[in-house]
Amino acid sequence: MNSGADHNTLVRRQERVAGLLHRLALESASGPPQSLVLEGGSDAERRALALHYAAMLNCADPDRTRRPCLQCAPCRQILDRVFNDLLFVDETFYEEGKRQLSVKAVRALRPTWGQPPRGDGYRVTVFPDVRDLSADVSNSLLKSLEEPRPGNVFVLLAPQRERLLETLVSRSWVLTLAWPEAMPPEPKALEWAEAMVRFWSSGRDWYARTMGKPDAALAENILLVLQAALVGALSGKTDIPLARELAKLDSAGLRRFDLALDKARQALAARPSPVNPGLVLDWLATRMI
Ligand SMILES: [Zn+2]
Repeated sequence: MNSGADHNTLVRRQERVAGLLHRLALESASGPPQSLVLEGGSDAERRALALHYAAMLNCADPDRTRRPCLQCAPCRQILDRVFNDLLFVDETFYEEGKRQLSVKAVRALRPTWGQPPRGDGYRVTVFPDVRDLSADVSNSLLKSLEEPRPGNVFVLLAPQRERLLETLVSRSWVLTLAWPEAMPPEPKALEWAEAMVRFWSSGRDWYARTMGKPDAALAENILLVLQAALVGALSGKTDIPLARELAKLDSAGLRRFDLALDKARQALAARPSPVNPGLVLDWLATRMI
């Protein structure tokens, strides 16, 4: 259950994208795009915006400028994810024993997409985590998105668009959420990021960490924390301790770190063979010595 207050907080952090979604949903003469990709921001923000968009497309408020009102029955049901015309394709749709979406699971959804929505708005199918789809699943999804599906819209959520098959991206409208710099960093990721920066000067206490095989989600969060600290260092926001540390680098050093971060992100997102997260972090840690 997603409380209205939490929902509003998440959406407010991404006001610019929320405004763009409003235009796509309600002001476009040709209707909303059939396929939309939301990338960037945090996982919680992407999910909140996807539901916000679904609410815009189904809100019962007669005044379109007020949609989503978040008070009417469709709006409330969407926030609670119990709305008839909302398919939130999370783990509950996976085949038994599978850790991600399978071709069979996508096929099983096709008959539903062939039907018009049950209500007066749009059926919104959200894929909340499409970061590691195999090429087979991506292609199966692509086939479904390419066919005209009157009354259906699809929303794909991913940390970065590189995580999606290029053809999926090229057929979708892509909106990029702001970096989550104003968000409190994830504590474990912050601890790792601080250890990395200490390692630059001490040369100690790093490799024992990566031997513990950090997973891709942790590595991604560490990169987010470092990116936020870099943005802080570049804009003189010294209230973030890690930004203060990074601000000790000269401008060439900051630039080098920016490029290294970008490479690390790409390595983690590389498909079909992402680089091992521990290796990516080791590489990044040694880049700055
Ligand atoms: Zn409403």
